[in-house]
Amino acid sequence: MKKNIIIVGGGTAGWMSAAALSNALNPKYFNITLVESKRIGTVGVGEATIPGILEFNKSLNINEKDFIRKTNATFKLGIEFIDWTYLGDSYIHPFSFFGQNIKGIDFHDFLTKTRKIKAKEEMGCYSLGYMAARNNKFKIPNRDPKDIESTYFYAYHFDAALYANYLESYSINKGVNTQEGVVTSVNLHSDSGFIKSITIDNDKILEGDLFIDCTGFKSLLIGKTLKAKFIDWKKWLRCDRAVAIQSKLTKEIPPYTKATAHKYGWQWQIPLHHRMGNGYVYCSDYLDEAKAENHLKKHIQGDLTSTPNHIKFRAGKREKSWIKNCIAVGLSSGFLEPLESTSIHLIQTSIMKLIKYFPINGITKEIINNYNQEMDIQFDQVKDFLILHYKATQRNDSEFWNYCRSMEIPDTLHERIEVFKQTGKIYQRDYELFLKDNWLAVLIGQGIYPKSYNSKLDQFSDNDIQSLLRALKAQINQKVESMPFHRDALSNIYN
Ligand SMILES: Cc1cc2nc3c(=O)[nH]c(=O)nc-3n(C[C@H](O)[C@H](O)[C@H](O)COP(=O)(O)OP(=O)(O)OC[C@H]3O[C@@H](n4cnc5c(N)ncnc54)[C@H](O)[C@@H]3O)c2cc1C
Repeated sequence: MKKNIIIVGGGTAGWMSAAALSNALNPKYFNITLVESKRIGTVGVGEATIPGILEFNKSLNINEKDFIRKTNATFKLGIEFIDWTYLGDSYIHPFSFFGQNIKGIDFHDFLTKTRKIKAKEEMGCYSLGYMAARNNKFKIPNRDPKDIESTYFYAYHFDAALYANYLESYSINKGVNTQEGVVTSVNLHSDSGFIKSITIDNDKILEGDLFIDCTGFKSLLIGKTLKAKFIDWKKWLRCDRAVAIQSKLTKEIPPYTKATAHKYGWQWQIPLHHRMGNGYVYCSDYLDEAKAENHLKKHIQGDLTSTPNHIKFRAGKREKSWIKNCIAVGLSSGFLEPLESTSIHLIQTSIMKLIKYFPINGITKEIINNYNQEMDIQFDQVKDFLILHYKATQRNDSEFWNYCRSMEIPDTLHERIEVFKQTGKIYQRDYELFLKDNWLAVLIGQGIYPKSYNSKLDQFSDNDIQSLLRALKAQINQKVESMPFHRDALSNIYN
């Protein structure tokens, strides 16, 4: 008999799950049904991604040009952080390596030795992705490891609603059934406590073997029904509200997201092909909705094209995102905050791990534990990475920043910072999303510098080091010069 998989929720998480599962599972053995309610709607934000999205689309055999046109996408080389360290400061966290490891010595050690590490923007000059972003240039990178173009990566900014529509068509073509209606109750087997069925609009009952909870912040299945505990991280990630407004594009479309720190939070600018997405993420301890909305409106340049969307959230995660026969994917499993655009990536990771551990022969404790442990590592690292941005501020112009600057941080992050300061090393654990150069971008970007460097560097003379740095900088400048502007790269696709 065929097994029934029920996905509840038709936001980005629901449709990404439907697309990936319908692609991965044999329809001879599985029925997939997605239940959504247009009356409830989706969260309506979530438009900046990180490079992993390319892998996801590729696994579905999605044609890149078609996807870009249908989702009004633009290219993203990283994020510019403005006013985070202090007012007037700016750095980019690029999806790109900084220099290259030479004879087993990390590149930033060369900058530490020459004391160039503290020179503003200097480290960025050795990163092709950084320099392309600063110059509004974009080219699809080359994957030949011998080519310097292989040293950067890219992602997209896209319209989240259009992406969900795109994946909806894809999923329906693959045989996914859809059901419109509000899930009014979730019914359990009395003996095992597994989910037996859901009731739609107090009327129709849908039975299932496996349930994917994609109900967003409502967390209807894993949270409300199966009572998964919520771990709250507000003591580290203070922001708990956002207001989003769309506007017309005004000038050049930058190939990166802008994240500008304000007194009580930060503002995003996500450039799509047809409009700008804007939002203010803030802490409700210091600011109410009306003030936040006014503040955001004052900081938007183009004409407004949508009404404000106010969103409440709690930074944190469910203690377990797989319980019995229910797996939470997306906001129902947790949400940190949008600063590093990690949420869609975490959806992708949840789905890939579900496919990896798919319970073809039944659900076991081992499967559930492995899945939950691997997801914990993902959430924990992203949490530490986000906290770093707040903790490493030098700002003292509001209670919000005073709190962030002086807060106690998780031991794992504290150790990472201290090891870096003392030795220049950035250690890496298995399964981590952010790698050495991601940490480096933010640590150096926010003024945390190493005191020492790899002593093997003493085999190089000062002259050797200087000429090596000069050559790399020149090579990168030449490459950037030859790249098309982002707007031209887009015209090639849209025209
Ligand atoms: C302010 C903010 C900014 C963000 N920015 C980014 C970003 O730039 N990049 C990024 O990667 N992520 C971002 N995110 C996260 C991103 O928006 C989400 O990860 C993504 O949209 C997935 O949401 P979802 O599908 O889990 O939930 P939702 O979009 O809320 O969808 C929930 C679905 O469940 C359905 N539903 C709920 N209850 C019921 C019910 N009882 N019966 C039937 N259906 C029901 C709803 O109708 C809807 O279809 C942001 C989040 C916030 C809050």
